[in-house]
Amino acid sequence: MDFGWTEDHLALRRGAAEFAARHLAEGAGARDRDGTFSREAWAACAEFGLTGLLVPEKWGGSGHDLLSAVAILEGIGHGARDNGLVFSVAAQAASCAGLLAAFGSEAQKGEWLPPLSDGSAIGATAITEPDSGSNALALTTTAARDGDAWVLDGSKTFVTNAPLADVFLVYARTGGPGFAGVTCFVVPRATRGLTVGQPIGKMGLRTSPMAQVYFEGCRVPAAAVVGGVGSGGLVFGQTMEVERMLVMAPAVGVMERLLDRCTTHARQRTTGSVPIGKHQAIAHRIADIELELEAARFMLYRAAWQRGRHGTATRECALAKLAVSEAYVETCRSAVQVFGGYGYTVEYELERELRDALAATLYLGTSEIQRNLISGLRGLG
Ligand SMILES: Cc1cc2nc3c(=O)[nH]c(=O)nc-3n(C[C@H](O)[C@H](O)[C@H](O)COP(=O)(O)OP(=O)(O)OC[C@H]3O[C@@H](n4cnc5c(N)ncnc54)[C@H](O)[C@@H]3O)c2cc1C
Repeated sequence: MDFGWTEDHLALRRGAAEFAARHLAEGAGARDRDGTFSREAWAACAEFGLTGLLVPEKWGGSGHDLLSAVAILEGIGHGARDNGLVFSVAAQAASCAGLLAAFGSEAQKGEWLPPLSDGSAIGATAITEPDSGSNALALTTTAARDGDAWVLDGSKTFVTNAPLADVFLVYARTGGPGFAGVTCFVVPRATRGLTVGQPIGKMGLRTSPMAQVYFEGCRVPAAAVVGGVGSGGLVFGQTMEVERMLVMAPAVGVMERLLDRCTTHARQRTTGSVPIGKHQAIAHRIADIELELEAARFMLYRAAWQRGRHGTATRECALAKLAVSEAYVETCRSAVQVFGGYGYTVEYELERELRDALAATLYLGTSEIQRNLISGLRGLG
């Protein structure tokens, strides 16, 4: 058992943190206030190789394995302030480019991987529906066979990147109920019958756009099927494992940054001439941040290592997603507390960190759903 990163991994993480501090930090507060997605920052991320992290180089990606991708995104989280943009990038890297790299046909890879990797195309994944969220595979959007085409009807909600997306990975029902009746399709935005609703306002991650997507007689060719008819449940399950790792990795970087900020503040801020870090209540709170961060990060590394090595790690990915997301929220809440009234002000940017973090226990399967997964593997629930 070796708990150390290689020099290469450390260099990747360091380089990513430096890149993010240079390109993804300045102006994040104003963009959050205005709900602005930065095309410029997106392009910089693409040039740095983030949008095609898991895409082989022959398709224009940066060809990293999962563990390296986690190291890079942890660095990104540490250096960036624009958590929404990082969320959009990580989601695209996993559930659009990553999905097509793993399950797409040669034609789909040739058409979509180069533009998704170089950032000229933005991707979105649409599975959630107004009546199926946690029970995602109970979706009712249908795809009916018509000659050599499929016709999609239904609606999706909470689709990250939808307002700007050029291409959608859409899950629809092609057969009976449950897992085996679901198929994944790649649908260009320009397809007739696909419309995108108004952007959905959010509490946090406000620089990551989101909308509903509607399908009405939306006709796509048979070649739009990704991974085979009826394999949508499998594609979804496998992609979710990867996405949970990529999206949670930046959170670990954010937590480390907040741990450092809290430590500095606890040394500098005095009450009655005593640094607040001398109060055990504050010192212990900071120790607890470190405890939760280290526990969560090792679960994340182990899950990514295992997924990369063995091809699947359902239990480990669920444990890691649960641990990182809960620790992330708790860390942000603690940071606000350590900073007192200053932590509540916009200027200190901790209220934004907390608002951004709160989504982590909801997206990619809520904490309750991760617990269902974990206990279900023990035959419980
Ligand atoms: C920021 C953000 C980005 C997102 N991006 C996307 C995206 O790009 N594409 C996409 O398709 N979706 C996306 N989603 C949707 C997300 O996947 C769903 O919000 C999530 O799966 C929960 O579904 P729901 O909102 O319908 O909540 P519900 O399923 O209605 O759940 C409500 C509450 O009930 C609990 N609950 C539900 N069922 C159970 C159960 N069986 N056992 C225990 N508790 C249960 C939940 O844990 C939750 O606390 C995004 C969501 C957010 C917040």
